[in-house]
Amino acid sequence: MTSATLSIDLGAVVRNWQTLDALSEGETGAVVKANGYGLDAAKIAIALARVGARSFFVATADEGLSLRDALGVGPEIYVFSGHMDGDTHQVRTGELTPLLNSVDQMLRHVEALPGHRFGLQLDSGMNRLGMEPAEWLAVRDIALSQQPELVMSHLACADEPSNPMNAQQLETFRAITDGIDAPRSLAATGGTLLGSAYHFDMTRPGVGLYGGLPFADAAPVVTLDLPIIQVREVEAGETVGYGNAWVAPRNSHIATVSGGYADGIIRAMGSKATLYAGDTPCPVVGRVSMDLITADVSNLGEVPETLQLMGKHQSVDAIADAAGTIGYEILTSLGQRYCRVFSE
Ligand SMILES: *Cc1c(COP(=O)(O)O)cnc(C)c1O
Repeated sequence: MTSATLSIDLGAVVRNWQTLDALSEGETGAVVKANGYGLDAAKIAIALARVGARSFFVATADEGLSLRDALGVGPEIYVFSGHMDGDTHQVRTGELTPLLNSVDQMLRHVEALPGHRFGLQLDSGMNRLGMEPAEWLAVRDIALSQQPELVMSHLACADEPSNPMNAQQLETFRAITDGIDAPRSLAATGGTLLGSAYHFDMTRPGVGLYGGLPFADAAPVVTLDLPIIQVREVEAGETVGYGNAWVAPRNSHIATVSGGYADGIIRAMGSKATLYAGDTPCPVVGRVSMDLITADVSNLGEVPETLQLMGKHQSVDAIADAAGTIGYEILTSLGQRYCRVFSE
C-alpha cells in the first residue's frame, strides 16, 4: 500500500474538549470549520455531541448543511460567514444559525426567513468580520428584540496572553453588550485560556480540540506515518533529489517515502523536519517534492515499513515551526490522499 496513514484519535479530541469545558462555567462549543481543521468534521462533531457538546461552528452555510446531515436535528450549528446572498436554502433546510455580521445581512435574513434563528457577530477591534460598534448601537434594540441565540465577537491576539489588545477588546465587547439578555461569546481556544473574564456564556475552541497551540497541554490527536517505497545506497559526494539540494557527506542509506507537498507536507519545511523510525530520528534530506520525501536511514539496523512525520516525537506545531507557519495551516492542509484512520 502506498498511501500514507493519518491516524486521528477521537478520544483525544473528546478529552481536549472536556478539559477546555472544565475551565469555564458556561457552555463550550466546538469549531469544526474547514472539515474539522482537515480531520473530518462529521466524525469529530458526532464524537463531541455524544459527550455533551450542543453547539457547533462552521465557516460557511455549505459546511453547515453537510454537518447537519451528519448530526441530525438537535445541535445548534452556527455559521461564521452569516447569511450571504445564495445561502437561504442551506440556512433553511440545514436549520442553521447564521451569525449575521452586518445590517445588510440582518435585512436579508429577516426578509428571506422571518422568525428563523440567528446570532450576531460584532467587531471589537479585529476589523475582520462583524458589525462595527457604531453600526451595532444603531440597530441593537431592533436586533435584540428578535431574540438572537448568541452575540459574539473574536479576539485578534488571544494566543499572546500579555498582548494589551486582549483587555482592550474585552472592554469594547463589554461596553457594547453589557446588560443585554442574549447569551454572549468572545473566546476561541486562546481566549478560553486567558481566564474567566473572557468566557461569558459560551466558548468556541477550535485548534485546541485538535491538539494545537495555544493549548499547550492538549492531548495530541494526529499521527502521520509515511510508507517507505524504496531504500538505496548513496555514495559520499552523490546528490539526492531536485536541484541536487543534498550532497551525501558519507556513504548513506536513503529511504524514499510516500508523501509530499501535495499532501500538505509543506515544501518550505525542507530538511528542518525529521522522520522517525520508532525513536530513531531519520533526517529529511533534499527537497520535499510533490509526492515524495527522502530521508537518511543510515542509522537504522533494520528499515521499517513506515517512517513517522507527526506523532510522539514531532507535534503538529513542531512541523509548523519547521515550515515557517502555524499548526492551523498544517492541519487544514492535510491532503485527501491519506488513509484516515479513526480511533476512539
Ligand atoms: C476559527 C474561529 C474560532 C476557533 O479558533 P481557534 O483559535 O481555532 O480556537 C472561533 N471563533 C471564530 C470567529 C473563528 O473564526
